[in-house]
Amino acid sequence: MKEEIGILEGRQGQVFEKKSGEAEQLDISCEKTSLSGSVSQRACVFCGSRVVLYPVADALHLVHGPIGCAAYTWDIRGAVSSGPELHRLSFSTDLGEMDVIYGGEKKLYLSLIELIDKYKPKAAFIYSTCIIGLIGDDIDAVCKKVSKETGIPVLPVHSEGFKGTKKDGYKAACTSLMKLVGTGSIEGISPYSINILGEFNLAGEAWIIREYYEKMGIEVVSTMTGDGRVDAVRRAHGATLNVVQCSGSMTTLAKDMEEKYGIPYMRVSYFGIEDMSKSLYDVAKHFSDRPDIMDAAKEIVSKEVAKLYPELQKFKKVLAGKKAAIYVGGAFKTFSLIKALRSIGMSVVLAGSQTGNKDDYERLREMCDEGTIIVDDSNPVELSKFVLEKEADLLIGGVKERPIAYKLGIGFCDHNHERKIPLAGFIGMYNFAKEVYQSVMSPVWQFAPRKGGKI
Ligand code: SF4
Repeated sequence: MKEEIGILEGRQGQVFEKKSGEAEQLDISCEKTSLSGSVSQRACVFCGSRVVLYPVADALHLVHGPIGCAAYTWDIRGAVSSGPELHRLSFSTDLGEMDVIYGGEKKLYLSLIELIDKYKPKAAFIYSTCIIGLIGDDIDAVCKKVSKETGIPVLPVHSEGFKGTKKDGYKAACTSLMKLVGTGSIEGISPYSINILGEFNLAGEAWIIREYYEKMGIEVVSTMTGDGRVDAVRRAHGATLNVVQCSGSMTTLAKDMEEKYGIPYMRVSYFGIEDMSKSLYDVAKHFSDRPDIMDAAKEIVSKEVAKLYPELQKFKKVLAGKKAAIYVGGAFKTFSLIKALRSIGMSVVLAGSQTGNKDDYERLREMCDEGTIIVDDSNPVELSKFVLEKEADLLIGGVKERPIAYKLGIGFCDHNHERKIPLAGFIGMYNFAKEVYQSVMSPVWQFAPRKGGKI
């Protein structure tokens, strides 16, 4: 059956298999709109912007468009807040046919006035969806007018779904955040301070990371955007370093802040022992005139690894030789996952992302074992094909990949925004190994049709 599954002609350039002896650069096709006919796993521009901005918990998030655009965003994401939870409410102007004919500006204006009066948010983000791009509502003008009348920042997010890829949505979100940065007081901020960018506090992950840095004596000015607060974003230009985790989504903001405020940035990852430790050491190295910061980083790492290592060995004993397929949003996460899986004895047979660029895929090629498939902007048919052909025991992905794994009768690990278990930090590595172990070794798979079971 699996031999019958092909790859669409127009997608051949976005799929690559690492072969023995190949030394040449990987010329994979990427960073382009999805092929017509290929039901991409990648969401639209609007969804990209919403992913980035939604965790700002004391802001109003209003989706200007038909109600369907807001559906996926309603309270299914795992970004938690230590205080206000306005982000868990999803507002929409719910445009209908008459609004499309006569324009939705009035409805947007009235919705904003009513919502701001009722919820008293610190700022409002207004997301422009496909239909707004078509009917031409001037959301900038409405936002400006409402901001003047209410006294809070009302920020348009130009995220019409059709105008590019999910990555363009990230950019639109960064453009809106950049309008907030620089509008607050930076008095009293330590010269040993950072902003944590691209960390969305899924299941409380930002709190774990923040604690490590604070234990090292570093002030965390803002987390963008997990457990985010408008006032913290406004004073983010007072930090002396930007530490970027989800680089696909937040590098634009880091670059803009470097250009405008001279704040350098570095890419980090908080997944797996190796990358988590490196994230602490790299930041400590940046503040090299304070050796106590490095001493504290070393102490955290050695204490955490001493606790974690024996536990991981138990999982490794059972999981050694098992094979994983990875298909996630950003390629940078894939690098960490490959290392994390290797540390529990597993190999990677498929590594793909929705938004990787040529450099990301080249790095993947260097990291991966022979025979590994590298894929950009994939679809369910391709993912199923590779999982079957490579006989993967586990698929790591998000909400849209979960049914693929279960239908094929293999384990699944949710590593996307819907998860409810923290997978970042040292404790996150333990949770990850445990989840992988529980799913891969579940006795239920013996009943899967491809393993000979009957349903
Ligand atoms: S593609 Fe357009 S219509 Fe569909 S969810 Fe995105 S913004 Fe809404």
